[in-house]
Amino acid sequence: MEHVVIIGGGPAGLTAGWELARLGHTAAQVFEKDHIVGGIARTDVYKGYRFDIGGHRFFTKVTLVEEIWEEILGSQLLTRPRLSRIFYNSTFFDYPLKPLNALGGLGLVESARVGLSFLYAQAFPIRNEQTFDEWVTNRFGRRLFEIFFETYTEKVWGIPCTEIGADWAAQRIKNLDLVQAVKAALLGQRGQTKGEVITTLIEQFKYPRLGPGQMWESCRDQLADKGIPTHMGTEVVRLERVEQRIVAVVVRDQDGERRVEGTEFISSMPIRQLVAAMDPPAPEEVQVAAASLKYRDFLTVVLIVKNPDLFPDNWIYIHSPAVRLGRVQNFKNWSPEMVPDEGTSALGLEYFVNVGDDLWSMSDEDLVALGTKECALLGLVQAEEVFDGCVVRMPKAYPVYDMDYQATLATLRGWLDPIENLQLVGRNGQHRYNNQDHSMLTAVYAARNIADGGSYELWSVNVEEEYHEEVRDGEARGATGDRMLPQRIDGLEAARVVRDAYARFDPLALGVAVGLLIGALTFLLTAVPLARGIVVEGMILSSLAAYLPGYEVSWPGAVFGSLAGSVGGFLFGSALAVSINTFVKWHGLALLRRLEHAKALDPE
Ligand SMILES: Cc1cc2nc3c(=O)[nH]c(=O)nc-3n(C[C@H](O)[C@H](O)[C@H](O)COP(=O)(O)OP(=O)(O)OC[C@H]3O[C@@H](n4cnc5c(N)ncnc54)[C@H](O)[C@@H]3O)c2cc1C
Repeated sequence: MEHVVIIGGGPAGLTAGWELARLGHTAAQVFEKDHIVGGIARTDVYKGYRFDIGGHRFFTKVTLVEEIWEEILGSQLLTRPRLSRIFYNSTFFDYPLKPLNALGGLGLVESARVGLSFLYAQAFPIRNEQTFDEWVTNRFGRRLFEIFFETYTEKVWGIPCTEIGADWAAQRIKNLDLVQAVKAALLGQRGQTKGEVITTLIEQFKYPRLGPGQMWESCRDQLADKGIPTHMGTEVVRLERVEQRIVAVVVRDQDGERRVEGTEFISSMPIRQLVAAMDPPAPEEVQVAAASLKYRDFLTVVLIVKNPDLFPDNWIYIHSPAVRLGRVQNFKNWSPEMVPDEGTSALGLEYFVNVGDDLWSMSDEDLVALGTKECALLGLVQAEEVFDGCVVRMPKAYPVYDMDYQATLATLRGWLDPIENLQLVGRNGQHRYNNQDHSMLTAVYAARNIADGGSYELWSVNVEEEYHEEVRDGEARGATGDRMLPQRIDGLEAARVVRDAYARFDPLALGVAVGLLIGALTFLLTAVPLARGIVVEGMILSSLAAYLPGYEVSWPGAVFGSLAGSVGGFLFGSALAVSINTFVKWHGLALLRRLEHAKALDPE
């Protein structure tokens, strides 16, 4: 029987063990470097308060995965209602956005702004849209983009929307069509088969009674009963390779290092570390490629609050640019048993960060103070109600798909794939933006390849788009099956410099300004002689009637004329702005072409 070494006790590693055991193959052991299982899907505990690294919903379209969850936890897996809203400008908005709710929450003036900017975007779309902001603006208008898309996207990815490719917006937002959203709001999800459910609109999900970690703690314990141990606090630091086979791993725990031999190896550790741990080392170019893989990191500030009932949501998206906080979890609403004292609540404040940046390096005390201040500023808690808190930092929470990652992965796979007895599974194990279900599926297939003589291709496990987004089954995906992440666009730099060098006019603003000016002038010019009683027949003012329908030198005429003047002025102002912008754009393009021409003649 093959002796299987499994690296990592997260969802992928433990699922590999689960499937091996199910197939009767118990010559296996799991090595987990932390003292807690579940990886990113763990549940941490602080003074009896339980919390996730982000909220972890259990939702999948993969029946096999659903069966495993049921097998592991049975009745401990609860079905929970979902409520998540967007918080902007002291107002809650439904998430996913519902048109009437959004407009109602924004108020009359802001709604008018949104409406006008939407109409403007329809009339004058940005041609050749290349960036996230351009894509969204073209479909929803600039104002709606600023309110509901810009701040949150930039918080999560740390990249300006002007530097994120339009293709990501297209993939992320395309199916949130208004008709579907309105229909779901009115009729619920009835009549749809499971595969057709739009995942943004899912109204309930499965969740373990004691948080996601309960799933993985129970899995580890049941595996131990079946003869597959999980060695906690034990890090794999080296993989010994002889030609195209791994023969052993070196693990380090509190007692030092030891060598563990195996005949099959399943790795869910980040590829970057895996390659760096190879002995003898991988070729130089492979090491360089692995070192270039990037990640977005994450930290949660937990606030313990003396208030039993803060808000009904599972989580809230924070769109306010005034705070750095991206999302707030209310763990009690995920499962009441996440808090030990009914009279209190525990919030998880999520900050999207990079290891080493100012937030990451801030002391826990300062982070709790910052979180308290931001929540109080938003009006979500009273600062004096917060009586305790803690911080959990999670490096490598998101594998980043930058412009080079596919080429990098190709290089890495070119070297790793020929290693006969090594299989890469999971999220960072494959550098894929997998949720638990697809992380688990890769592990199930890896186990079957070993215990069942299967020939599953782990890299082609279909990777689905984010469940927070909107996806229907059977949709076309990228050629690699990858879920996309925002990519920074480098080639736009010169175009941007040229574009930013010229002032551009906002047609809406210029239209409103000119319209108001002409309307007011028309009214005043007529009102003054009328008020002074110096109106004479045939005065030059009456010739305005030729240009302004309804105008005459009388009080009603002044009102009608100024209205007509406002409309005419608006159209004139907008047209003027568009003409100037078109000319400027044309001039900029000509300049760019000249630049490119010069560059072609003199490449470096
Ligand atoms: C904010 C956030 C929210 C999310 N929400 C959801 C959600 O709602 N639903 C959902 O299904 N998924 C969600 N996910 C995704 C989910 O967390 C991952 O899909 C899942 O945890 C991946 O499992 P994994 O085993 O591949 O990797 P990990 O969870 O990263 O586990 C890998 C394990 O390997 C261990 N390890 C690493 N290196 C070594 C080594 N050298 N030696 C020994 N052990 C090692 C690590 O300590 C870790 O325990 C979310 C992720 C994030 C960041």
